[in-house]
Amino acid sequence: MKPNEWIQSVPVYEPGRPIEEVARELGFDDISEIIKVASNENELGPSPKAMKAMAAAVTEMHRYPDGGCFYLKDKLSAKLGVKQQNLLFGNGSNELIEFLGHVYLGPNTNLVMSEGAFVVYRLVAKLFNSQAIAAPMKKFAHDLDAMLAAITPETRMVIICNPNNPTGTIVAPAKIKTFLKKLPAHVLAVFDEAYLEYMPDDQKPDLIKEIQKGRENVIVLRTFSKAYGLAGLRIGYAVGHEKLIGLLNRARQPFNVNAMGMAAALAALDDDKHLAKTRKTNFQGLELFACEFPRIGTGLEFVPSFANFILVKTGNGREVFKALQTRKVIVRPMDGYGLPEWIRITVGTPAQNRAVLKALKEIL
Ligand SMILES: *Cc1c(COP(=O)(O)O)cnc(C)c1O
Repeated sequence: MKPNEWIQSVPVYEPGRPIEEVARELGFDDISEIIKVASNENELGPSPKAMKAMAAAVTEMHRYPDGGCFYLKDKLSAKLGVKQQNLLFGNGSNELIEFLGHVYLGPNTNLVMSEGAFVVYRLVAKLFNSQAIAAPMKKFAHDLDAMLAAITPETRMVIICNPNNPTGTIVAPAKIKTFLKKLPAHVLAVFDEAYLEYMPDDQKPDLIKEIQKGRENVIVLRTFSKAYGLAGLRIGYAVGHEKLIGLLNRARQPFNVNAMGMAAALAALDDDKHLAKTRKTNFQGLELFACEFPRIGTGLEFVPSFANFILVKTGNGREVFKALQTRKVIVRPMDGYGLPEWIRITVGTPAQNRAVLKALKEIL
């Protein structure tokens, strides 16, 4: 058996550690005591409306889902002001990144990303035997000029993660405007907006408008995994020109989005209350961390965040991650991102945030 030779070089993604796994390994009996703030999940849980919709959908789970996601497309197209043909749903927005790989990447191509951006872009580039060119960051944020400068004739796409995971930084709307003016026509701009809902409204770029105007080389990726609290159901979507969506749709398996996910997402779109509470809780949590980190030890450096997590410099992040784990707190070490002295902490409930701070103080 001869595998494709480039497969060996695809790095293995290190996810946030599951609660059950940590409990088994460290011999914790009561998993409810463990705080997982490692995967940017919504600690308030799913929207109550989504939970109700899921309960109602249970009796229909012997059916294949509607692969076309009709009701979701209907609702979301009205909400965003785009056509149904501008939308595509994925098994999480990660699957949509893979569709982009199927359609655009291969040998002798590359994608341009930012050095400290979401690692999945690198993995997808490798998976398709393509290359990820990482442009340097500026103060933990995307440097769009550096990204433009990194473009080659073989570049198929530029990916901008806004807000960026894991740094929590954003790109100002004016900078995105200038970037789009300068972007060569042969390059697709992919905006990964997994954390869009957490951004201040005046910082949100209006990329949907570009798509409404018929622009062909812009695509936006969003997800129900983060602010909507539905990560376990795996559902995300892309908004783009209908030609582009048509191509991506060819890479899609017939039933890639599951019926439970669709039911939950449909209801979650109606739950403004839960979303508002999520945003408020998050904002207060970020303020608490910003206030408390400088008071730990000789003062911990952190990157001001516009998402639902925060990057903080603790010194040997892997060691701090392990020490926190023994105190029943799971965070994310950042050595995989070339930031060995940092950890990423998801903002949780007020009680969780306080517990995380307490554990950090004990360790440092
Ligand atoms: C979490 C995340 C996603 C998407 O996750 P899915 O669960 O696959 O929708 C995409 N991009 C970034 C930057 C993320 O952090």
